[in-house]
Amino acid sequence: DMEATAPGGTPTTDTLPRRFADFDTLGEALDYAASGVRGLNFHDARGTLIRAYPYSELRQDALAQARRLIAAGVCPEDRIALVAETGAEFASLFFGVVYAGAWPVPLPLPTSFGGREAYVEQLRVQLSSCDPKMLIFPPELAQMAGEAARIAGVEGIDWSEFATREAPEAELPTAKGDDIAYLQYSSGSTRFPHGVAITHHALLNNLAAHSHGMKLVGTDRCVSWLPWYHDMGLVGCFLSPVANQVSTDYLKTEDFARRPLAWLDLISRNTGTTLSYSPTFGYDICARRMSSQTKASDRFDLSRWRVAGNGADMIRPDVMQSFVDAFGDAGFQASAFLPSYGLAEATLAVSIMPPGEGIQVELVEETELSGGDRHGDRPQRFRAIVNCGKPVRDMTVEIREEDGTPLPERAIGKVWCKGPSVMVGYFRDEAATEACMADGWLDTGDMGYMSDGYVYIVGRAKDMIIVNGRNHWPQDIEWAVEQLPGFKAGDIAAFAITTPGGEETPAVLVQCRASDDAERQRLREEIRERVRAVTGMNCVIELVPPRTLPRTSSGKLSRAKARNLYLNGEIKPYDIAA
Ligand code: ATP
Ligand code: MG
Repeated sequence: DMEATAPGGTPTTDTLPRRFADFDTLGEALDYAASGVRGLNFHDARGTLIRAYPYSELRQDALAQARRLIAAGVCPEDRIALVAETGAEFASLFFGVVYAGAWPVPLPLPTSFGGREAYVEQLRVQLSSCDPKMLIFPPELAQMAGEAARIAGVEGIDWSEFATREAPEAELPTAKGDDIAYLQYSSGSTRFPHGVAITHHALLNNLAAHSHGMKLVGTDRCVSWLPWYHDMGLVGCFLSPVANQVSTDYLKTEDFARRPLAWLDLISRNTGTTLSYSPTFGYDICARRMSSQTKASDRFDLSRWRVAGNGADMIRPDVMQSFVDAFGDAGFQASAFLPSYGLAEATLAVSIMPPGEGIQVELVEETELSGGDRHGDRPQRFRAIVNCGKPVRDMTVEIREEDGTPLPERAIGKVWCKGPSVMVGYFRDEAATEACMADGWLDTGDMGYMSDGYVYIVGRAKDMIIVNGRNHWPQDIEWAVEQLPGFKAGDIAAFAITTPGGEETPAVLVQCRASDDAERQRLREEIRERVRAVTGMNCVIELVPPRTLPRTSSGKLSRAKARNLYLNGEIKPYDIAA
């Protein structure tokens, strides 16, 4: 049993005055957590504990890393780019950079999409935008990360080599609450990822606010496979546990991708896990992996899972229901689902549902969602809009018209937010900062409405498709296609293109395996008919091979990228005889 070796478990430190996330700087939060017995636990793909890493050890290692950085000439406010592989090395480097007064910048790992070249290029562009003193990476990535560093003119260092360096005594700077703590890149769903500068105060305010929102207690314990280069993984499942002095069990993201049910195995272990987060797609994969023949209760016990957080992307009530259908038998309770809404520009959480309420939806007519009048030419259809909860403590949300005029209750418009955890700005990008900020208010880029103090998110403004002056949501088109047999969430991307005749028209890319021309013709017709019936529009329908639709490093579908790749010929649809 891993309880014997893992920290956590019995909370012997509960006699200390607990200060949940209530610190002035991130360094202080780790100093405090290090006085207890809890920490991070890293597991392999089989779920076997490979390293128990108490916060006391993390702190010692981080202090040594800070001294190494200072010996290497790192000064306060220097950026240090770190490839964010889940493990003790990244954890100690992240806090080491913080203790040295410099700013860690977590960068993504390679994904299966786009291959080596795309990864090197992504790192290169991110390195040039954050202009770091050095890039530190895991030895397995020495070639790719090393190449990106060389092209960007940044010193590249393998972290196993870095850890062997001397760590001479050095005086560490004292951080202040309004200093920058780290840079966080947005996911890159609508454009290339932007680096957000987060202060200690912003971070700790958001951690305190969302911990308060989910009623976190001293006996909670977290499991996570989320990547540390995305805000939900970094802030929600690494920095939050540190600041709240709770233990976390980690599975690497790539191991989750290969064996998704290992996530639920880890939660089922008798370690008292109560918290775990995932975007909708994580719940979807697990529900699909469970065959209807096997009983979930034979393998899993999910009855202690108190907060099954969901956010980062549209929450799909249908998918969440299929998760309940698959795992209810193993004790999973639908009321554990905890919708939340947030973005990198607000540190993490903007709104969060009170625990225990589960997924609450409102049915809204689709034409109303896209701001149009009801027309007689298409059947009335409703979309279930998920209640994403109340603004977190200290956060104010306002719905506004395009010109900035505040909108009344239940009117759909741009979602703006304001509070101490909203970013000061993007790093060295005044134009982009000015484009989304006014008087301390942040334009989230999302559309939604408020009702009775709760926030409802409808979609991203930039993804909206406008044809003949009428707005359409790509997800309404995508979800219509998904309901045809043989398709699943994430197989479809809809966006607007301009036809050779100069007209705006929606294009729908659909991933499928159809092997012969006749089958493809049939599918294309079926999809065309379906989309026409649902939206009243004639769309360009293209069938593309499986795994061609681009995802962000955090696993979200990027319609903007799909559009670019399609238009410049990098996504090649199947040739189908007319
Ligand atoms: P980029 O800004 O780089 O184009 P991104 O907006 O996806 O990418 P993140 O900051 O990681 O980058 O994600 C925040 C966005 O995710 C939100 O602005 C919103 O569009 C979406 N999102 C987050 N939570 C929810 C939710 N509960 N429901 C719907 N969408 C959500
Ligand atoms: Mg964004």
